[in-house]
Amino acid sequence: MMVAKTVRCRVINLTKSKLNALNEEWSNFQDFIELEKRDLDWIADKIPIRSVYKCQARWISKRIKHKFAMSLSNQVMQVKKTDNKLSKCWIKVPVKSKWGGIWLPVEPHCEFPDDYKIGESKIIKKTKGNKEWFEIYVVVKKEVQMKSCSNIITVDIGEKVMATVLFNGRPIFMGTKIRGIRRHYSWLRKRLGNKKLLKKVKQVGHKEQNKVNQILQDISNEIAVLATKTDSVIVIGDLKDIRKSAKKKGKRFNRIVNNMPHLKLTQLIEHKASWSGIPVIRMNEHGTSKTCSRCSEIGIRKNQGLFICKNCGYQVNADYNATKNMYNRSMKHVFVDGVVLQPKSCLEQQAQEVLI
Ligand SMILES: [Zn+2]
Repeated sequence: MMVAKTVRCRVINLTKSKLNALNEEWSNFQDFIELEKRDLDWIADKIPIRSVYKCQARWISKRIKHKFAMSLSNQVMQVKKTDNKLSKCWIKVPVKSKWGGIWLPVEPHCEFPDDYKIGESKIIKKTKGNKEWFEIYVVVKKEVQMKSCSNIITVDIGEKVMATVLFNGRPIFMGTKIRGIRRHYSWLRKRLGNKKLLKKVKQVGHKEQNKVNQILQDISNEIAVLATKTDSVIVIGDLKDIRKSAKKKGKRFNRIVNNMPHLKLTQLIEHKASWSGIPVIRMNEHGTSKTCSRCSEIGIRKNQGLFICKNCGYQVNADYNATKNMYNRSMKHVFVDGVVLQPKSCLEQQAQEVLI
């Protein structure tokens, strides 16, 4: 199966002439958009700009308010690795001022794989304070053979603990800080809102998002690494369920659920796992939080944190209980003689059919 990811490359150590060329291309691109927005085609046409960017600018101009990234199709850009002192990795982009484009030294945030194809990428100018730099987001694609694994790890995505991961009978709790962060920022926003500091409110919102995103990235990384190390399939709850039940519970609950970063985490895990050839199976998690993982009777979730079974008296962390149930369920359906034999989509369908 074909998988893709984005490699973020920071442009570094630019010579003056390359920096000028890039800056010029960038500001002309933005100017072009600005003029197109005002329907001043006849002036816009005088701006020297490569035609690949010109078409985009026309299209974008009708839609945006701020600066916009320039797309680079795989026909106009190239990536190469070298032993050059300046940089180990170089990207070629087209500019108007130099025929054939310029090679930019870059620092990728992660390794390029050995064998890959380039997808639609983009270049953007970033600013922070008085610092300015360029980043190129390169989409890389590669063909991956899905592994056949011999273990399972289950992931329960919850409210209090972002992800409870079960491997070998032991729970690992990940992302316990997110709730605190969200609460803190929600309180902060409210306070600033009361003082009518709307700009500040927006800034605070970005900060919160960045923090939460970083945690989600870390969790998904950790899970993908664990699965690789332990030769495991990842079984994860299908969130369709949560959203369905949210619909019935009304607007307020709905807003809370949609606002939660759960869906994003699921996607990140699937994304990172598939890159390493690890199968991810979405499983209907209906009832996993209410069922006793020891005797299979219906128990109660006393408060968010504790599960109590009236039948056998089992008292346990509720997230741990839920992920244990997922594990028990997946053992029945995912494995045949301890090995995953079927492709993901087929298993998914089967699991759905059996469990509904
Ligand atoms: Zn029980």
